[in-house]
Amino acid sequence: MRALAFTLLASSLLACGGDTPPPAGPIDYTVIGYDYAFDIETRAAATAVDVRVDTGGDCLSMPLRAGQIADVTLDDEPVSGTLEGNILTVCGAGWEDGSEITLRGTLEIPDETWGDSQVGYSVTDDLEGQPFYYLVSWVGGCDRFGPCDSAPDRFAHYHFTVHHPSGYKALCPGTVTAGDTETTCDFTFAGGPTYSGFGVAASPSWTTDDLGDWGGVHATLYDIPSTGIADAIDTSYHADYLAWMIDQFGPYPYGDEIRFFTGPTYWNGFEHPGNIALADTLVGQSSRYANPLAHTINHEMTHMWAGDQTTLSGTYDFVWKEAMAEYLTYVFDDQRDPAIAAKTASAWKYFAGGAAYYPVPMDDPRPALLDYYGDAYGPGPMVLFHQLERLYSRDDVMAALAMLLGTERSIGVDDVKTALETTTGADLTNYFNAWVYGSGKPAWPRFSVQALDAGGGDYNVLVAQLDPQNGLYGCAFAVELTGDNPGESDEVWVDMGPDGKTSQMVTASPGFSVTGWTFDPHADCLAYEGPVAAPAAAQPRINPWVARRSRR
Ligand SMILES: [Zn+2]
Repeated sequence: MRALAFTLLASSLLACGGDTPPPAGPIDYTVIGYDYAFDIETRAAATAVDVRVDTGGDCLSMPLRAGQIADVTLDDEPVSGTLEGNILTVCGAGWEDGSEITLRGTLEIPDETWGDSQVGYSVTDDLEGQPFYYLVSWVGGCDRFGPCDSAPDRFAHYHFTVHHPSGYKALCPGTVTAGDTETTCDFTFAGGPTYSGFGVAASPSWTTDDLGDWGGVHATLYDIPSTGIADAIDTSYHADYLAWMIDQFGPYPYGDEIRFFTGPTYWNGFEHPGNIALADTLVGQSSRYANPLAHTINHEMTHMWAGDQTTLSGTYDFVWKEAMAEYLTYVFDDQRDPAIAAKTASAWKYFAGGAAYYPVPMDDPRPALLDYYGDAYGPGPMVLFHQLERLYSRDDVMAALAMLLGTERSIGVDDVKTALETTTGADLTNYFNAWVYGSGKPAWPRFSVQALDAGGGDYNVLVAQLDPQNGLYGCAFAVELTGDNPGESDEVWVDMGPDGKTSQMVTASPGFSVTGWTFDPHADCLAYEGPVAAPAAAQPRINPWVARRSRR
């Protein structure tokens, strides 16, 4: 408020002095914070957006998809605005560089979501037939609720005031102050991107469970007892994971508290900063992950660093945050229980088989995030990290991640490539062009295998990429040679380098007569044996992050 008073004074002095007219034209600005109040039942909202003027002017334009806004003031002066193409423009007295002004208004949150997702505002019955209220902005979506700078790379502070019926609990990022019918959340940490920071949930059903100390962070679960989640959480496993993440990437970015809440969510989980959503279906659901609840909790905690603290430069950088959340969960499991990690890698490869888009889709026009993001979870961790740890080393990949994470900033897929090139010493241009960027349904490479008897017990194993004229794909993987007798198994390692090769021959001395083989038995590469399967045998497209209840 002090800055506001100063600005008003400065403006009036300028007006009186008359020597310099106030700046005119569009204002360039940075949003410092959102103070957002709403009623979860009526959806009536009041917003105050604190803006720092970077380049002075008299007109402020900000994305607004929530519809009409009333009672608009700028710097506490009533102003009229125009809303065109989902951009609100309001003009006032004119403000100098460096001044701070507040845009206020009232509106009604639209009762709508993006497609069948929960992006937007929704009320869904929980397992006990009670309403679960959820406000989720997602990438580029905070203008669904009011004027908001919705560019993915923006950070802000947040203050939410949630009006709710007596006895309900409400959760949002930051320090929660719970009252009977009003709950506030105050988020003042440095790294609060709008995609996850602008998020509120409320429920009459939650009971709280103290999950103890996780690496110096106090963990609490807001659960609906019938989910079975409270009993299923292995607290020491997750405490170790959070401590491991802190060890790898620096302090937990959101103070000394991490909260989880359960509900009928569209996704298995979502990474609101310090305030993680978990689907109520995670216990006992069939899954290609060894333990979907445990996997989801670690995945979402990874996002506290990868996604929240360090966020996306742009919408089409979405893949790196999911790839990191999957890969780091996998690395931790691989150090403790390789069978769990092996199942994760094999799940990624399965999901990738049905992907309809490349990790960074270059289609023209480029697809909407809701249409392609689900294809990031399998191919993303494979091509960005797992294949490269097999071509180079895990230490190289982890060192690249340590270069990228731990600070409040935005990064893109190109930054991930540069960091990996730095730590591996490789030129990954061809590799990224083959695996990461592309249009249409990905055509992951297919290979032929021959095991030729070279005499003297040796075999020449020849692996050749089919259709090399369509581009070579670099990666490294095993071929497991097998014989007719129990225990006859020997692996050869096929390294196609980062640029790929038309063929590679490896000599093996397995000590038995080779009668067959298994191609890539450890899911080290999105490489497949033989020509493309007939359409009827093609893998279905799977979005592994859509909760069971939301699948059709
Ligand atoms: Zn994720």
